[in-house]
Amino acid sequence: MESHSQSGRAQLPRNMIENSMFEEEPDIVNLGKDSRLHPLEPDEIEYEPRSSRLLVRGLGEHDLDDEEEDYESSARLLGISFMNRSSNHRGNMQGAYSHEASSGSCSLPTGRTLLVGAFVVVIILSISMVVYFLPKCTFTKEGCHKKNTKLTLVYPLATNGQPFPWPKMRLPSAVVPVHYNLNLLPNLTTLNFTGSVQISLLIIEDTNNITLHSLGLIITEATITPETTKHPQKVQVLEYPLHQQIAIKFNTMLPKGEKYTLNLNYSANLSDGLSGFYKGTYQIKNKTRILAATQFEPFAARNAFPCFDEPAFKATFRISIIRDADHISLSNMPKNTTTSLANGLYQDTFRTSVKMSTYLVAFIVANLTRISNKTAGGTLVSVYAVPDKMDQMDYALEATVKLLNFYENFFSIAYPLKKLDLVALPDFEAGAMENWGLITFRETALLYNEETASIMDKQIVTIVIAHELAHQWFGNLVTMEWWNDLWLNEGFATFMEFFSLEKVFPDFQVSDRFLHTRFRAMEKDSMNSSHPLSTPVETFEQIEEMFDSISYEKGASILLMLKDFLNETNFRQGITQYLMEHKYGNTRNEDLWNCMAKVGSVNLNVKEMMKTWTLQTGFPVVTVKLDTTANKIHLRQDRFLRIAFPQNSSSSFHSYLWHIPLTYITSSCSNYAQPKCIKKWLLKNKTDTIDLKEPNVTWVKFNMNMTGYYIVNYDKSTTEELNELLQNNHLAISDQDRAGLINNAFVLASAGKISIEEVLNLISYLKNETSTAPIVETLLQLNDIYMLVEKRGDLSVSNLMKKYIFNIFGDLIDQQTWSNNGSASERYLRSKLLATACNLNYDMCVQKANIMFTKWMNTTDLSVLPSDLTATILTVGARTVEGWTFIRQMYIQLQSESDKNKMLSAMAKTNNVQHLIWLMYSGLNHNKIRTQELPFILATSSKSRIGYLFAWDFVKENWDDLIKKFHLGSYSIQTIITETTSQFSTKTHLLEVQTFFDSLTDKSSQLGSVQEALEMIHLNIQWMEKNLKNLEKQL
Ligand SMILES: [Zn+2]
Repeated sequence: MESHSQSGRAQLPRNMIENSMFEEEPDIVNLGKDSRLHPLEPDEIEYEPRSSRLLVRGLGEHDLDDEEEDYESSARLLGISFMNRSSNHRGNMQGAYSHEASSGSCSLPTGRTLLVGAFVVVIILSISMVVYFLPKCTFTKEGCHKKNTKLTLVYPLATNGQPFPWPKMRLPSAVVPVHYNLNLLPNLTTLNFTGSVQISLLIIEDTNNITLHSLGLIITEATITPETTKHPQKVQVLEYPLHQQIAIKFNTMLPKGEKYTLNLNYSANLSDGLSGFYKGTYQIKNKTRILAATQFEPFAARNAFPCFDEPAFKATFRISIIRDADHISLSNMPKNTTTSLANGLYQDTFRTSVKMSTYLVAFIVANLTRISNKTAGGTLVSVYAVPDKMDQMDYALEATVKLLNFYENFFSIAYPLKKLDLVALPDFEAGAMENWGLITFRETALLYNEETASIMDKQIVTIVIAHELAHQWFGNLVTMEWWNDLWLNEGFATFMEFFSLEKVFPDFQVSDRFLHTRFRAMEKDSMNSSHPLSTPVETFEQIEEMFDSISYEKGASILLMLKDFLNETNFRQGITQYLMEHKYGNTRNEDLWNCMAKVGSVNLNVKEMMKTWTLQTGFPVVTVKLDTTANKIHLRQDRFLRIAFPQNSSSSFHSYLWHIPLTYITSSCSNYAQPKCIKKWLLKNKTDTIDLKEPNVTWVKFNMNMTGYYIVNYDKSTTEELNELLQNNHLAISDQDRAGLINNAFVLASAGKISIEEVLNLISYLKNETSTAPIVETLLQLNDIYMLVEKRGDLSVSNLMKKYIFNIFGDLIDQQTWSNNGSASERYLRSKLLATACNLNYDMCVQKANIMFTKWMNTTDLSVLPSDLTATILTVGARTVEGWTFIRQMYIQLQSESDKNKMLSAMAKTNNVQHLIWLMYSGLNHNKIRTQELPFILATSSKSRIGYLFAWDFVKENWDDLIKKFHLGSYSIQTIITETTSQFSTKTHLLEVQTFFDSLTDKSSQLGSVQEALEMIHLNIQWMEKNLKNLEKQL
């Protein structure tokens, strides 16, 4: 899946679970005495409620140590009450509660009825825990008897009151699906559908139950047919909605090796949301039309058909869909036959699929237009959109054909399907979804309007296509075994976006974009609330929260570091090996490293090295001390955190250790373009020393082109030498290196490791700078500080900051033309510079933008504006009531989503309260603005001087509605939480945000994004305390 890039954050799918399902306690019943039901093997028994990811994040299965302490202490600092957590986490239990079932006279009171009330549940649990902690002693009226006792499981109750035969969230592995025949009849008028599924099953271990996923489906008939007899038998289906499971229980064991076919007929409503099998709307000639489409990742296939909805249960699928003559249907595979039915309907049957996971299954019923072309390998590529947008499809088709050719060649594995469809859907929560052979997109991520699109719009379309195509190999052909290793999918696809664009579309110059992706990943990863790339996850929210910048951006960053260290040839060999070895299978983290380690010329222990990057939270800061007298470099590594919590001095904090593939150049061979000048050093220990071969070294620069996932803190004299180098000859190091030095300086200052004065000294060379990467990074960092200061109402500092920014960049701003001329990098720089200038009310910028805005109002033709600057021009225009109202009118009328996106952004930056309220509620109510845009509206308005308070009030006011529309834990909710609180920098706001989330009865306060939001406010407070006075003095 690809993020929705409007706000630079992924907005990913939600599932369809009613929130209340997470809150209730599971009904439980003692099955210890039910001999028909097989208990789990002792090693499967879990004796304690599993805590949420908030608590276990960063931990291995068995080592409950460091991170727990980290959280305790950070929570104390943040004022979070951990007293409540264990009780709050009960909803996350796997369901495998246990208690003592003692023998002889020592039994607990029995005779519970099956209708166990909540009160009884609590008592049972309490007693269970007491008894568990006293395993050698059970109590009776006579006192304590030392009896040999045995632990048994307590099973949940199905909806009909009968015992449900499986107690865990994860499905049993005793039965596996081999093939699905899925027949669907969606009705786009009544907005419901009926379906039947025949699942061919293989029994892997003797079992008395078949348990699978189903949610919101009304099962009307169920039969099972043994392959041996071929006689279907009716069976009863038990439902356990809390785990979204159904089960069929048998009185006799199904023997290992046998095959069965499970047939289920069912009906359901099309979903109102944006996941499962959902309805969407679009306009044709001003008439509203309905379409039905799917979004299953991570676990919504179960909303469309009963299935084994975990990525490791791969199977083949044969799908058929009944539709009317006005619609077409699409699915993963090419269509095989179309049959005309007696009732005037048509049945499309698709070819049997390759072996794949359920979350990649997809189907669409709609009225769509298409264009097609073939790749060199003969794959038929088609782009689909609603009919009114057919003039915006050409570029996507061209880019897809080129990129698919590249990937087939690069991976040395042909794309395995005969066709690939790319469909732009009007209602879509994420950026795009990689369903095998049927990739779905938000319209902005696929459609391209030559006349009015900016260079960034074009890059986004290309990047998103590149990401989804990479998934056809990483994710679809080889899939992570479980969601804990989601980064294997998303990190790779994100890495390949940039890698493939550099090869296929070098003119886009995406290296700057990738550099900023790495900076942003490190920003998140330098917080206590971060988590390791590979993290144990179990509950629905935990899985949803894996779709975050760590999985995507950190994943991509460490792959870049590895590629750089191994070299491209070895890296490519390693990944081809991995794909070949595991195709149509599932993998874990270590499978990738094992394949990388097999590559011929690799002589370092890749597995050991990469484990330190995937299993530990965060990243290191390398402290560099150059001893010019002894000609040595002294190195030290520490985990980098921007907030120093007390436990940072504890032994647990010091135990963090990475294998860091360092790169560096020195003053004696400082040509960064000369490979011989670049030295490598693998830092595996806490401290190390490099003996320099060359004499009289005056400076060193580490982390060439910032390809390593670490930051560097230089000693004072090296810092001074580097500053001097930048002042006198900044081209001595690359633009990415200059951007890296600037980024690291700001980051170190935010942690209080260096002073703001040192940062300002470093960036004072920027008057001579013209390269995009260092300028954009500086603008971003200064802008972040400016926004905080502005919202604190500190006019004196904010005015000083404006002057400072204009003093450095004024000349460069004045030199910009209001055009689309130049290279991609120059165009990107221009749009960033002028956006900042207008935002800070730079006279020339505002005047020019107003003139252009008037021109647009007079012509109503957006193509009269330089498209790279449209967003800035509209933002200035939206400052007046007249301008804002005109933009709104055009927004409602226009067809181009990327244009509408710029209008929405301009409207959301307003400081007019009435306008903000209209925007937010229109988004919430899906009235004139699609609800999928709401997170973007809230994130954008949070940056404005007035909007940030309204956005937060809106979130508090409408929380219940928000978590109905965007599921708890989803990327949309993550975005809403972190963005609407990101501008707070006072203790009052910290307390308010904390109190609000504590007051909620849902599980919000346990979300990682809530912890991140609280930590960010804390960090903002820290920044102001450490740097504000000093900043004022220095400006
Ligand atoms: Zn993806």
